[in-house]
Amino acid sequence: MICEFCGGKTIKKKVRKVHWLRRQLFIIDDVEAEVCQECGERYYHATTLDAIDRMLAADSLPVKQQLQVQVVGMPASNPA
Ligand SMILES: [Zn+2]
Repeated sequence: MICEFCGGKTIKKKVRKVHWLRRQLFIIDDVEAEVCQECGERYYHATTLDAIDRMLAADSLPVKQQLQVQVVGMPASNPA
């Protein structure tokens, strides 16, 4: 397909997706996406997103790894 932002061509790729569901953060590997070769914008099919939600709704998730995540705020910049 053609990128909506820059007009570049996309290619089908498996990517690592950051996904929020019910205020929980998931990192999902091997998600199929169309990735713009120019700007890197990713496009997901609605069916792919549905499949992710279905998988995350299951009782037992195929968890590969647990990560600890740090949330950091940018320091206020000094007025010039
Ligand atoms: Zn693009």
